[in-house]
Amino acid sequence: MLSISDNLSRVQERIAAAAEKAGRCVEEIQLIGVTKYVDSTTAESLFATGCQRLGESRPQELWQKAKDLTSHSIEWHLIGHLQTNKVRRTLPLVHLIHSVDSARLLAAIDQEAALLRQPARILLEINVSGDENKHGFTPDEAEVLLPGLSVYSNVKVAGLMAMAAWKSDAVSARRAFARLRELRDRWQKQVPDGIMLRELSMGMTGDFEEAILEGSTMVRIGSALFADAG
Ligand SMILES: *Cc1c(COP(=O)(O)O)cnc(C)c1O
Repeated sequence: MLSISDNLSRVQERIAAAAEKAGRCVEEIQLIGVTKYVDSTTAESLFATGCQRLGESRPQELWQKAKDLTSHSIEWHLIGHLQTNKVRRTLPLVHLIHSVDSARLLAAIDQEAALLRQPARILLEINVSGDENKHGFTPDEAEVLLPGLSVYSNVKVAGLMAMAAWKSDAVSARRAFARLRELRDRWQKQVPDGIMLRELSMGMTGDFEEAILEGSTMVRIGSALFADAG
């Protein structure tokens, strides 16, 4: 039986090794501990062990855990699909929404952020794998949106997010991540002044090393942190 602390150390070592292999500075890469598999108590243990950024893919689950763990300075990240009718309750709780996948959602977030008088930080989720079951803008859809992003004046678009296709091997995962990085580099020249597409949220338990080699700045890791932990 391993502890969450052992798992976290091991993941951090692997992140550091991948960064070194990529010739990158490890401080450029943030670990988002994905707590969707565990209850609030276990999420709290992960936080106590030194993982300050926690991610949930379902808004209701994030609300619940944020409520259970109010006393902590946890930085919450929403990494899964957000319906427009859940924006109001989610926005005040989160540091970053990784999964903005429609213009309609972007507009809803902008409107709520205006009411809160606090800019909302988001990433655009891009479907780079072409997997029809996945959320996210197609690259073409996103490209159309880019020049008009300044319309959403209460939203700060901080970068892009993507997932590799379900069950892809290391080579095709790496190709998908390279594609996201290339889109980011190209789109940075097409977005209105003041928008910096700095963040690339890519890489999960099965493929985070490939993602780091391709420039990931945020890896979203769940299973590897909780596997065999008691
Ligand atoms: C579940 C989930 C993760 C973490 O997946 P693991 O393979 O358990 O590390 C990362 N990103 C998203 C969007 C997820 O839904």
